[in-house]
Amino acid sequence: MSWKPFGGEDYWDFNAVAAWCQALAEAHPAWVRLEDAGRSRHDRPLMLLTFGRQDGMTEERPAFWLDAGTHAVEWTGVMSALYTMTKWIEGIKDGSLADWFSDHTCYIMPCVSPDGFQAMHDGLPFLRSTLRPPSPGTVRSGLTPADLDGDGEIRWMRWRHPAGPWVPDADCPIMMRPRTVDDDPADAYFVCTEGELIAWDGVKWISASREFGLDLNRNFPVDWKPFSMFGMDSGDYPGSEPESQAVLRAFAERSNIASAVTNHTYTGCLLAPPASADSPLPDGDVAMMNRLAHDAVEGTDYKVYKVYPEFMYDPKKPIIGTWDDTMSCTFGVAGYTLELWDPYRWAGLTDVVPVDMFRDPDMTVIRAILSKCIAEEMYKPWTAFEHPQLGAVELGGIDYMHTVRNPPTPLLPAECARGFAVADRVRRAVPSVHGSLQITAIGEGVSQVRLVLENVGALPTSGLAIGERLGVCPSVSASLEAEGVELLEGPADRALHHLDGWLSGLSGFGRNPIYPSLASRGHRAAATWLVRGSGAVTVRWIAGRGGSGEASVEL
Ligand SMILES: [Zn+2]
Repeated sequence: MSWKPFGGEDYWDFNAVAAWCQALAEAHPAWVRLEDAGRSRHDRPLMLLTFGRQDGMTEERPAFWLDAGTHAVEWTGVMSALYTMTKWIEGIKDGSLADWFSDHTCYIMPCVSPDGFQAMHDGLPFLRSTLRPPSPGTVRSGLTPADLDGDGEIRWMRWRHPAGPWVPDADCPIMMRPRTVDDDPADAYFVCTEGELIAWDGVKWISASREFGLDLNRNFPVDWKPFSMFGMDSGDYPGSEPESQAVLRAFAERSNIASAVTNHTYTGCLLAPPASADSPLPDGDVAMMNRLAHDAVEGTDYKVYKVYPEFMYDPKKPIIGTWDDTMSCTFGVAGYTLELWDPYRWAGLTDVVPVDMFRDPDMTVIRAILSKCIAEEMYKPWTAFEHPQLGAVELGGIDYMHTVRNPPTPLLPAECARGFAVADRVRRAVPSVHGSLQITAIGEGVSQVRLVLENVGALPTSGLAIGERLGVCPSVSASLEAEGVELLEGPADRALHHLDGWLSGLSGFGRNPIYPSLASRGHRAAATWLVRGSGAVTVRWIAGRGGSGEASVEL
């Protein structure tokens, strides 16, 4: 396959995504490297692409991380990652990004859960992440989703019964609304996913537990505990899955990563910290990440929400084990979840609070979305069907994957572009450190060698301050090596402080333009050595996540 730019033309399955990534790397060996960060449960590659000048130094440079496809149905995130890589390689080729990618690195893991992603393209029922089977001995009993009429979609199923909790909505033909006590029992229905009853006693109408209930985005270390919501679980222990293990290992091995985005769908928002009431993130980190989040969504229509308290599915239940919070709180990296695609806006509603739709769905909003699906002809009307177990039922409903969960295909390019806009801004926030040597002749063959390190990036060289506090980011230090030159005092190796980024100066009290101020630590650090003699002097530095470098001078 020869590589072609991806502009969001269509949704691809994993095989096509993998072939495209392979072709991308083969076509651009000077700038792109593809490796397997691990293998999925079903032995698919967990692809990791490294963007940057391939001179063996990509791990020494400040880096941005982008991943997608943690959740099997959230196809837009994967396609937006491909779109983003296309934009970057085009920028490298036209020269506009060649300098940046010579001094910085981007890591992209475009599909964290390839088994689930491919399964959804192969028509399996909704599954959250991976193909982890139920624990041994589990008997699943009740209704399980299946495409009974063979139309390639698993929709809804309804049948009339006086005990049913639903009635047809008067204004939207496909919609079933909650029954009220005033409704006529003759109008009542049971409604569920299109499917069949397994291990059925012939009596009870209940749902079976999920066949693939693991939620990979609850399997990460931060605040991990056994967890269950919507029938999905957090795995046996933090990082219990081959996919989460590979992500964690790849991320941990690259301590140059300073900022990150993980792509999901849906609701059209960028999730920012804190993730819980007792988040360990310092206020400064929270403020800095929120400021960057608002910059990142500029022009996209996406909203910014603090996970706590604005994006809690259940206010009583903390969200645990998420990847964005693990990036931030465990690794000290400014990590965001981007929820692409806003179906509410598609339906003409701009003031919907997404999490309210999970807590207490507003029927006018549901009606608007379903009416939009009908207007766009992305639905199937209720159609009589003879169910092998239940008898006369009706099947109908929307094309969920291309309406609510992901945009209709014609809208995919614009959504990929929004995802790119966010990722590209968070990319540009990484710290960026330059070093310079100043030599001052003191007399009698003695010279003062001074290194000045300067961070001109947005983020500090620690990424987040918590990275420094936890000791998980590389430190800042410099060392002098000299040939034929005598070091007169002090050690050759010097510990330096982390360097602020310009965002640091906007995250405290000083962000008020009426009371502007300088930082207490600052974006520069200096080390000075006194030497005698003539010869070659080299100073090497490591500037935390701001990268490493060296400078030489002949005395
Ligand atoms: Zn998701």
